[in-house]
Amino acid sequence: MCICINCQYVDRCNTYYAVETQHQQKHLTEKPEFEPEKPSINVNIRTDSDCIEIEWDVVGCESFTEDMGKWARLRPGEAIPT
Ligand code: SF4
Repeated sequence: MCICINCQYVDRCNTYYAVETQHQQKHLTEKPEFEPEKPSINVNIRTDSDCIEIEWDVVGCESFTEDMGKWARLRPGEAIPT
């Protein structure tokens, strides 16, 4: 799971914006302006018989600042990205 969903910068961050783009998810902001320090992204590639799924997760980041449930508070009632 992406650590960004519990980070205070999730709705301002350039890296999380790129993750949303990769997942074809709706963006939390159209104008991210926060540049995180050294985010590490884990890319998982799953292949099925007829499709390839690529999942991007931020697994480490020096700018991570815990704010539990930040994403969920911004999108009440929506499924939390995994
Ligand atoms: S953990 Fe890092 S990459 Fe993720 S939202 Fe926070 S600052 Fe951005």
